[in-house]
Amino acid sequence: MRHLITGGAGFIGSHLAETLLARGDEVFILDDLSTGSVENVRHLKINQRFHHFFDSIMNKQLLAELVDESDVIFHLAAAVGVRLIVESPVRTIETNVYGTQLVLDAASKKKKLVLIASTSEVYGKSDKVPFREDADLVLGPTTKGRWSYAASKALDEFLALSYWKERQQPVIVVRLFNTVGPRQTGRYGMVLPNFVRQALEGAPITVFGSGQQSRCFCDVCDTIRAILLLIANDRAVGEVVNIGSTEEISMEGLARIVKQRTKSESPITYIPYDQAYEPGFEDMPRRVPSLEKLESLTAFRPATPLSEIVDRVAAHFQKDANAEMMRTSHSVSALAASES
Ligand code: UDP
Repeated sequence: MRHLITGGAGFIGSHLAETLLARGDEVFILDDLSTGSVENVRHLKINQRFHHFFDSIMNKQLLAELVDESDVIFHLAAAVGVRLIVESPVRTIETNVYGTQLVLDAASKKKKLVLIASTSEVYGKSDKVPFREDADLVLGPTTKGRWSYAASKALDEFLALSYWKERQQPVIVVRLFNTVGPRQTGRYGMVLPNFVRQALEGAPITVFGSGQQSRCFCDVCDTIRAILLLIANDRAVGEVVNIGSTEEISMEGLARIVKQRTKSESPITYIPYDQAYEPGFEDMPRRVPSLEKLESLTAFRPATPLSEIVDRVAAHFQKDANAEMMRTSHSVSALAASES
């Protein structure tokens, strides 16, 4: 099969590309490298079935050509990360809403299956845990930047489902719950890579708020397994489906696990939300997916425990740090040789 992954140089996109190539498929990625990175896909470039286009999904002509080449389109290109969203709300709304419309429009010309990556953020402040796909979404006011992400993704979902109802354009919407794993960067605020990096550097582990807020972290390999089961299932078309893990942990608990798994001496510090993000920032106290629908469609169960995820993320950071040290020591020796 042939696939287009928008946002294919991102954290999830690059893992998806890797998995599809490993099973013998052809992969096209389209990524403007705004939050994705060449490093994420460098190792894939030697594969002849891998084709990369570092360009924007707003390039309609290129998008149309790549859609024509593909059987399935995975639309992962989006503004992600709470910090990025709070800092760049215009970009968030434009990329998420306009980008998705372009992808759906291009795909609908030939009725190619589109999987839209949405997010657990759309459940907002709802306290009806676990979150079911048919539950109400509870968003905060438009004056609080964070909610622009949830609202833009909710609009993407409406758009996708409308293309399905009105134009018989096949779509599957997945709501991803805190996907984590190697290659995720902490640059845009994600908690796990930040905690692991801080622990490895011996720096304070920064828990925001009281640390009692909880999340369920799902390994990226599990997320991808669920995505691939869904696209192979006709019953998933026209549906909105949660993907995640149900192993719930508070951020204080996560800080402790990270500290223990990395054998770090780092202190755990608490930073008020106002300082961490912006004055008046609203966080979700709990976020747990109901996986009933996903399980009934695919029999999927997440397989990777949190301790194992933390170990893999730490190993990835250590590998990167070693590679960086090698590069620096090579350039220092080259400099010393040239000076002697
Ligand atoms: N968080 C934290 N320290 C950090 C980064 C994030 O305590 O250095 C908290 C954040 O306030 C939130 C949780 O960790 O309560 C998960 O944050 P993330 O941005 O990873 O995902 P999301 O908020 O979208 O669930």
